[in-house]
Amino acid sequence: MKRDSGSKQRTPKKVTHMPDGQGAVLSTAAGQALTDELRSSFQGEVIDRGHPGYDEARAVWNGLIDRRPALIARCSGTADVVEAVRVARKHRPLVSIRGGGHQVAGSGVCDDGLVIDLSRMKGVHVDPTARTARAQAGVTWGELDRETQLHALATPGGEISATGIAGLTLGGGFGFVMRAFGLSCDSVRSLEIVTADGAVRTVSREEEPELFWAARGGGRGLGVVTSFEFGLHPLGPEVAGVLVLHPYERAEEVLRAWRDATYTAPETVTPELLLWSVPADPAIPQELHRSNCVMVGAVYGGPPGDAATAALAPQRELGPPLMDLSGTVPYVALQSANTWRFPDGERYFMKSHFMDELSDEAISTLVEWYSRRPTPESLIVVRTLGGAVARVGPDDSAFAHRSARYNVSVDAGWRDPALDETAIGWARSAWDAMKRFSSGGTYLNFAGLGEDANELRGAVFGSHEERLEHTRAAYDPEGLFAPAAGRP
Ligand SMILES: Cc1cc2nc3c(=O)[nH]c(=O)nc-3n(C[C@H](O)[C@H](O)[C@H](O)COP(=O)(O)OP(=O)(O)OC[C@H]3O[C@@H](n4cnc5c(N)ncnc54)[C@H](O)[C@@H]3O)c2cc1C
Repeated sequence: MKRDSGSKQRTPKKVTHMPDGQGAVLSTAAGQALTDELRSSFQGEVIDRGHPGYDEARAVWNGLIDRRPALIARCSGTADVVEAVRVARKHRPLVSIRGGGHQVAGSGVCDDGLVIDLSRMKGVHVDPTARTARAQAGVTWGELDRETQLHALATPGGEISATGIAGLTLGGGFGFVMRAFGLSCDSVRSLEIVTADGAVRTVSREEEPELFWAARGGGRGLGVVTSFEFGLHPLGPEVAGVLVLHPYERAEEVLRAWRDATYTAPETVTPELLLWSVPADPAIPQELHRSNCVMVGAVYGGPPGDAATAALAPQRELGPPLMDLSGTVPYVALQSANTWRFPDGERYFMKSHFMDELSDEAISTLVEWYSRRPTPESLIVVRTLGGAVARVGPDDSAFAHRSARYNVSVDAGWRDPALDETAIGWARSAWDAMKRFSSGGTYLNFAGLGEDANELRGAVFGSHEERLEHTRAAYDPEGLFAPAAGRP
């Protein structure tokens, strides 16, 4: 067993993490020197402000984000990442790391600094015998599922196929089958990471365990992860699920019945409830499109059949529905079913609470705030944790909310920039109104925009904050990636 170079015996230099948007701004001359040096050694694309692809390369999923980095280093592989880290160490620009570009706060891009962009690193190799997949950090969930499903295997991923595996896994990773198989980070067997000293490290439970601990749920600001090795679980190609649309007039009643049904749901079932508008889907009568509804969803983490039908039944029987679309679907179709509802370039803001209970009062508050939503694209999602998520020990990984029963996220979506203030204001106010019901934590992957970094760290990492800071400081004593850690 290798010695853990991030072990607690060290006395690391204290690194103060910089708040959103701050850091070393490159002068024109320094930016040019960095660009020239990188060009001489890089195999991928070096995209500066004069490059014809600059605007496309700096754009992220959230159209609210309009940052202008000095340079984007679009890496072709680990050697490029090592080069980018080397020049960053020498010139000390503000550094941000981009995987799938889906973080709502746009933390994958920065103003006037260097973006280490992994989005072209798309390799996936599945070993069906060992039931593992090695995926590079630019892969999206849709791309990974496509490969693993060739063998009817899956690792629990996010609910939108266009989201990057990297940011999602490093922050924890909620998904449709998490109660059966755990968070995405729980299936990571090992990962390859380039740390601030330029070293390429393979970390796992056996090798550099402290870094492995931190990367699972606290993975920002430790280095640049170049690939993940995931354990795979037998699932698909078809899965059984519930999707029932209830009339909005019965929202509180359905929510209460749904909450009660979550208490007895087996671990194989992952229930989720959304207050949202009816999708403009040809399978649904047109007169219902875009009207308010309660969507009850649940997925069975096993083979379809009688056991699945029985386990899912309580989620399906919560009163007379508007529409019942439950049934069996290909896993890849399930994983991409809602992707079209979150198009690239529109405007978004998300913020969440963990909750141990969903009291009747909390339910009334949710419904009251949902009914004030600014646009039909805005929604409130209640996810059920527990099961395999809660079976992982509280200190086994940096993810700090193992015992929470629910996560409630308020997701504003809109198109018109004139609505920025209204939409963000609605989401913040709804989040504030729910705060008194929260168990005190928030989820890194759904963390707002321009939040106070200190406050956020406490809410995200709880009792793990100090250990995580220690680990970050041990591997990045000069704070090269500190701004990346400080931004949600
Ligand atoms: C439409 C949508 C749906 C979502 N659904 C889910 C869901 O179902 N479950 C869930 O848990 N979350 C979900 N999320 C949140 C998602 O997990 C986060 O936004 C996550 O950060 C996205 O990862 P990314 O690689 O696409 O993001 P990026 O914006 O590329 O990265 C976000 C941050 O992660 C860090 N990072 C990214 N790549 C690396 C790397 N290779 N090495 C080191 N650090 C890195 C960086 O600090 C970066 O700033 C969703 C987000 C969106 C927009």
